Amino acid sequence: MSASRRNFLRQLAASAAMTAALPSIAETAFGISPRSLNDAPSGKPIILSRNESAYGPSEQVIAAMSGAVHSANRYPQTQTRDLFERIARLHGIALERIVLGCGSSEILAAAAAAFAGPGKKVVTALPTYEYLGAAAKIAGAEIVTVPLSKNYAHDLNAMLARTDAATRLIYICNPNNPTASITPRRDIEDFLQKLPRTIVVLIDEAYHHFVPPTASYASFIDQPVNDDRVIVTRTFSTAYGLAGIRAGYAVASPEIARTLSMRCLPSGINVVAAMAAVSALDDTAYVATCVKRNADSRQEFFNQANARMLRAIDSHANFVMMNAQRPSPDVIEHFKKNAVEIGRPFPPLDNYIRVTLGKPAEMAEFWRVWDLAPAHKMEM
Ligand code: PLP
Repeated sequence: MSASRRNFLRQLAASAAMTAALPSIAETAFGISPRSLNDAPSGKPIILSRNESAYGPSEQVIAAMSGAVHSANRYPQTQTRDLFERIARLHGIALERIVLGCGSSEILAAAAAAFAGPGKKVVTALPTYEYLGAAAKIAGAEIVTVPLSKNYAHDLNAMLARTDAATRLIYICNPNNPTASITPRRDIEDFLQKLPRTIVVLIDEAYHHFVPPTASYASFIDQPVNDDRVIVTRTFSTAYGLAGIRAGYAVASPEIARTLSMRCLPSGINVVAAMAAVSALDDTAYVATCVKRNADSRQEFFNQANARMLRAIDSHANFVMMNAQRPSPDVIEHFKKNAVEIGRPFPPLDNYIRVTLGKPAEMAEFWRVWDLAPAHKMEM
């Protein structure tokens, strides 16, 4: 039996109980309820709140998904195998090192199920993407949160200092959600050198594609370190425009990949998701176009912010964290009343708003609505 088939069957045999017990991502991470979507005056808010792609899947991917529905009566065996093989080819790695998930969220939950639990500790940054911490908490672990550094990088020395014999898992989100900041590659490498061998490190690269070329960043999949403790997660939800399809993957050591796969949903990648993901990986030109559009939109956002003397954290993603100079709930409410949905509050950055970059017309509307708020109010 081939390795990909073994891995697939493992996922098929795994229990769904852990993932079923978790709160929805919307509750824990995005803080959006269906009601908040419907409350907007027009009933059609501009959504700049969830870090999705503004551009959707490519025509090629849409065609692949349309074709896939004809296989809806079958369990996703060949399609899943194709995706394993496509990811293996993309990264030049063995199939045994790949884990597929119903979104990368499923893999974060699997990591929590595997490495967190009563009497164990998980170290994360604050603020960061909360889903892994939320899952670990449900599993009974203690979550240790360490504030970001003044540059909004993970404060790895402080994180190291907070580890002890009970620590099994550390979460590094790079670029970080919600700050869109990066933690320098060299710092993570140094950190790994100092970290006790018993601690697993999950590096979440959900926003990898949007990082502009810079010496201080390199993916731990593209430029791997020889370290069995490292798990790297990626998603099809952001640059590939497939958030609604739910597909993600992880690259890890064969042993950890096995451990994670056993905790993933059986057939968690459906036929449409698997074929969409394969096609999306093939359509590299489209991804490059979306990344370029995002970079242009990001630059324009900073131009507009500068013109208004506003400060935003340097963004390496498809969203921007901006100092709104007043409590974020007030700003969020102002936008909501004007049919624009932006990210929820992210304590302790209480005066900051997280804005997902949309299409140019959507961003023009964002700034129009921003300017509707009286200037003196924005300085509160
Ligand atoms: N990781 C990070 C940092 C995220 O921001 C998100 C979603 O917002 C996810 C993982 C989950 O992505 P998905 O489950 O759609 O792959």
